[in-house]
Amino acid sequence: MQFKDIVGQEDIARRLVSAIDSGRVSHAQMLLGDLSVAMPMALAYLQYLCCENKQGGEPCGQCPSCKKISQLQHPDLHLIFPNPPNGSTSVSCADYQTQYRDFLLEKHGAGTLEEWHAFVGTDVKTSMIRERDAAHIVEVLSLKPYEGGWRMLIIWKPTSMNSAAANELLKTLEEPMPQTIILLVDDTDEGLLPTIKSRVQIVKLKPTGIDRTAEENALFAPLIVGWLRMLFKLKMRELAAQVDKMAALNRQQQKQMIAYTSTLMRDCFLNSAAALPCTLGSGDEKFDSQFPKMITVNNIALIEAALDEAMFAIERNANAKITLMELSFRMSKALKKR
Ligand SMILES: [Zn+2]
Repeated sequence: MQFKDIVGQEDIARRLVSAIDSGRVSHAQMLLGDLSVAMPMALAYLQYLCCENKQGGEPCGQCPSCKKISQLQHPDLHLIFPNPPNGSTSVSCADYQTQYRDFLLEKHGAGTLEEWHAFVGTDVKTSMIRERDAAHIVEVLSLKPYEGGWRMLIIWKPTSMNSAAANELLKTLEEPMPQTIILLVDDTDEGLLPTIKSRVQIVKLKPTGIDRTAEENALFAPLIVGWLRMLFKLKMRELAAQVDKMAALNRQQQKQMIAYTSTLMRDCFLNSAAALPCTLGSGDEKFDSQFPKMITVNNIALIEAALDEAMFAIERNANAKITLMELSFRMSKALKKR
């Protein structure tokens, strides 16, 4: 997992990277935000922390450490997560490691609690982090790091801890150990002990998949979907006519339209990368299901950059037709690189 794969969190990623680069790694942190980005961020962060060949704020993805973390096979990376009782109170997350790792790999780290339940086939109400899991935490943290580097612990959905487990975790947080990093990953902090919250550095992620309003959909969906279709064939006369329609909006609407397209592309990417739902609203089922597959890790950054620059130009009163035409060419090129 690399930071560039996590859309819309560039500022947060930069902050995390600079903390690592300057050796100010906080021993306990909570990544608070939508699970579709919070867990990938935790994994990218740990990968960067351990990478032997950090490059321009990204883990290299190639060194043994990067490979082990991205495959969730690093012996010093420990995962704690809510698990079902399975008819016996003696079960802990240690018994579900393989399933949970498979789940994370399948979802590229972006799965939700409901999806985890569906994956493991359990009743939603019964999954929890219990005393046994807290004992597992104590046990894995008592181990010497195999690789001689960091001991890493991710607690996914710590808000699903029962109070016994929470109190045990609190003890662990009160006595930070050298070369040990604990990351709590959750989409809420409601119900988490205030004493735990006060002992972790909270990193708030940006909201994702900003809902497009009904008005925005009504105004922009036909324009944008029509335009996206044209980007594949680039028939100049049709494209120019479409761009004329887009440029006929006022400046404020043009900015809204670009922001709208940006959230649409992000949803398409999350749909292609992690099978999250995405509604283009083109009224054409085939297009709605096929188009998101065009937005991948190979072109999302190019697309975001093109949209950002178009936004910048529009904000500075550049000629809208020229800006949107230029944007069309860049988007068209990016779509071919999927
Ligand atoms: Zn590396």
